[in-house]
Amino acid sequence: MILIKNAFIVELDRTDDVLIENGKIKKIGSIKEEVSYDVLDATGMYMMPSFSDSHFHLRNPGHEHKQTYKEANDACLKGGYTDVIALANTNPVVDCKEVIDEINEHTSKLDLDVYQVMTVSKGLKGKEAIDFDEMLQYTKIFSEDGKNVDDEQIMEKALKKSKELGFLIMDHSEPESEMIKRNIDLVRKVGGNLHFCHTSKKASIEEIRKAKDEGIKVTVEVTPHHLFAVDMDYKVHPPIAHQEDKLALIKAIKDGYIDSIGTDHAPHTEEDKKNGSPGIINIENAYSMIRKVFYEHDIDMKTLVQLMSIWPAKLVGKEKGIKEGNVADIVLCSDEEYKLNKNDLLTRSKNTPFDGMDVKGRVALTISKGVIVYDNGQIKRKGNQ
Ligand SMILES: [Zn+2]
Repeated sequence: MILIKNAFIVELDRTDDVLIENGKIKKIGSIKEEVSYDVLDATGMYMMPSFSDSHFHLRNPGHEHKQTYKEANDACLKGGYTDVIALANTNPVVDCKEVIDEINEHTSKLDLDVYQVMTVSKGLKGKEAIDFDEMLQYTKIFSEDGKNVDDEQIMEKALKKSKELGFLIMDHSEPESEMIKRNIDLVRKVGGNLHFCHTSKKASIEEIRKAKDEGIKVTVEVTPHHLFAVDMDYKVHPPIAHQEDKLALIKAIKDGYIDSIGTDHAPHTEEDKKNGSPGIINIENAYSMIRKVFYEHDIDMKTLVQLMSIWPAKLVGKEKGIKEGNVADIVLCSDEEYKLNKNDLLTRSKNTPFDGMDVKGRVALTISKGVIVYDNGQIKRKGNQ
């Protein structure tokens, strides 16, 4: 049994003790130490449900040279994430049983829970929709991420099917604002379950605000880098935008229009970056970046928990929260201020423009299903990969 003493429990807005037994949160309150307990003093720490990433690139199969399964596992646990939604633009792409089986075989050995997405079109080619009825046994999320669904008929068909069968489409709109508008029009016409990935522009947010005010049900993700940086020349899709875009995202968060933070963690080798691959490595530092931005813009910690944990977990049917009886998926974070250092990253790829920049807050401890998997710089229980 693990007893965590004196943590500030963000969702409850108070300092208390938490007892973990058999993978679950057994008790919250003032708890007396017993000799059989592993006691951790969390004075000065925030306790939150572990983070869930709505947008993660596992890079496998096919791109082990950018990140191995094990590195993905370790990087996530270090970042306070115990579960991720992995996009389908791998090599081969995830559009059939064989590929998803291969991924599941590897990820089942990790401590990280990986929820694998499949493509909307066969081969990610945008020509023909995959057989959603058949593929639904393997996943409930489909996405062309990395590419826009140019063919309006494919998008319309996918949306209709998502409504009929109850799955989710995660959409990479490009050009962003224009395609968000087209896709909102399609949802207005045929319904369906649509999630806008990595929304970055003021004009996009305006479309989304109008749609949500009208009662159209779409969900919206923003990334750490679009909140953290402006006017920076570093290749990501969509590009890092301007101050007015960032402020529109922040205002939308405050007004309750944003549903999740997805890291869009996208490892690349130095050579890939030189050759123009878009993407940024994020998962290990997402919390520190978000905490800094939220602190500076006076967004409360409960909203952070909602966007980084509760809501993205709901996408895959997980209930998270520091509550008696819940699975003990927990992070403890300090509020330390420091500078990012890319030499500290656990993944082999170091593609970040944020080296040396100031952040706030560090993940100190990650607990997955009642087991300490990351403790102050150490991965505690490793997967077999
Ligand atoms: Zn994308």
